[in-house]
Parts: sequence; structure tokens; C-alpha cells
Amino acid sequence: MVRDPRRGAHARDLLRDHSELERERGAAAGQRLGLLWYEWVHYVAHIPYVPKTAFGRWIKKYHLWHHYKNERMWFGVTNPSMDFVGRTYARVDDVERSGSTRVLFPK
Ligand SMILES: [Zn+2]
Repeated sequence: MVRDPRRGAHARDLLRDHSELERERGAAAGQRLGLLWYEWVHYVAHIPYVPKTAFGRWIKKYHLWHHYKNERMWFGVTNPSMDFVGRTYARVDDVERSGSTRVLFPK
């Protein structure tokens, strides 16, 4: 039997392709879970439901400040980290109420 010297390389290529596929599947699953987490937290923020955890109650209140206190602040829905980076986080008492924050359809 004649062995093909490229056969081992082909098997390694297949294994590498398979592991890349697994990483891509993992990344896609992570993105879907992240999107579900975002949508769930945003949904809960807008329904009359009181979350059971202290973090859940805080993140709901934090998002509602964005809608009902000042729409130029508190852009994070599931966490405030990017608000610290973008300087759009402040104590709620230190921010003036926006004149347009509750106007959904301005004239
Ligand atoms: Zn919202």
C-alpha cells in the first residue's frame, strides 16, 4: 500500500477546520445568549414586574432613568460599563430632568 504523504496534513486540516467551526458555533451561541439577556432585561424594565434580585431591581431603575429622567444619560440596558467610558453615567440626583425625555413624538 502506498501512503499519501499529504494524508496526515489533510487530517490536521480537517481537525483545524473542525475546531474553528466549534469556536464559531460557540461564539454564535454566546451572541444569541447575550442578545436574549439584553432583550429580557429590557423587556422586564418596561413591564410592571419587580425583579427578585437587588441587581435586577437596580438595573431596571437604571434603565428607566434613561427613559424618564434624561435620555442623554444611562444608555446601558444590561450594565453601565460603557456609560462610565462614555461619561454618560451620573448619580440620578445630579442630573436635571430633560425637557424632552417623556416626549415620544416631538412636534
Ligand atoms: Zn427601554
